[in-house]
Parts: sequence; C-alpha cells; structure tokens
Amino acid sequence: MTTALAPVRSEADILPAYRGTPVADLLRFQNLGTAPAGVPGKYAHPAILIATCLEQGAALRVPEGFAISLHTAAASLKRDPFKVSWAIGVAGVSAIAVVGHDDCRLTELRNHREQFVVQMIEAAGWERPAAEQHFDHWSDLFGVDNPVEFVAAEAARLQSRYPKVLVAPLLYQSATGTLQQVIVE
Ligand SMILES: [Zn+2]
Repeated sequence: MTTALAPVRSEADILPAYRGTPVADLLRFQNLGTAPAGVPGKYAHPAILIATCLEQGAALRVPEGFAISLHTAAASLKRDPFKVSWAIGVAGVSAIAVVGHDDCRLTELRNHREQFVVQMIEAAGWERPAAEQHFDHWSDLFGVDNPVEFVAAEAARLQSRYPKVLVAPLLYQSATGTLQQVIVE
C-alpha cells in the first residue's frame, strides 16, 4: 500500500469525497477554526464517530454533540465492533474518522518489552512471568508498524464492513495540531 498525506489549510484542500459530509465539518473545526455553513447550534444526533489513539493527549476541537469519540490503541476499532455498530445504528452517525497520530509510540511497542515488564513488576506489583506473558499476548494485537498505513488499512476494513457509511483515514500532526487527510494510492 502506498499512502500520501494531504494537508487542509483552506476550504479548497478538503478532498471532494468529503465535501458536504461530517468529515469536512471535522476538518473545518479542527484545521480552519470555522463552523461549517448551515450547521445548527445544536446537533439532533452525533454526526460522526471519531476514533483516536489512547495516547493522544490533545482533544479535537469539535462542538458538543457533534461526535462520538472512542480512544483505542492506535485508533484501531478491531476490538470494538459493537461500539461502531451502536454509533451507527442507535446514535445515528453517518461517518467514521479513524485518526492516527504522527508520534504514535505503539509503532515501537515491540522494542519496549523489557521496559514494560520491569515497570509491571516494579510499578504494578506483578511477577515477571505474568508480565512477560501479558506483553506477549497483547502486544501483537496493539502494535502497529506505521500509523499512516495503519489508519489507511483500518479505514478500508471498516469501509467494506459498513459500505454506506463514509470512513475517512486521518492523521493528527502534533506539531501543528491539525488533521491531515490520508490518501491511498
Ligand atoms: Zn498512539
């Protein structure tokens, strides 16, 4: 898979596929600081499900009621199928944003095995074999190689699962606090 990043610095940068959708609204709120035209002061129901990495500290700048937010490892929704379906089926979202971030430390998870094990012994009070087993069991599920490729693949997986829901892979750039559009070529 080849991916590219497309920044959003003005209205014209928003990809045509996102125009007129909650994804475009999210990009406006976060990057342009503007409220989209025609958006009501209050939302009758959330417009979008936003998945972000659990280590992303900065909250996205979206108005109350606009989105349902889930924080998961590297923004993966693989272990939350029912939450996604609930967001669509009950809360009424029509779009999903899978938001990775450029300084995601889950990319180096496998390098942190010993640090993790030592911390679980010293800070959490675990025995070494339990800590090692815990890491080996879960790290395969949580580790990602590259945050951009990961959100692209995760968005594609969700898009085929929910064909009528728009799924957008995005990357949060921590230096600028903006979202970039991930394009799969
Ligand atoms: Zn992360």
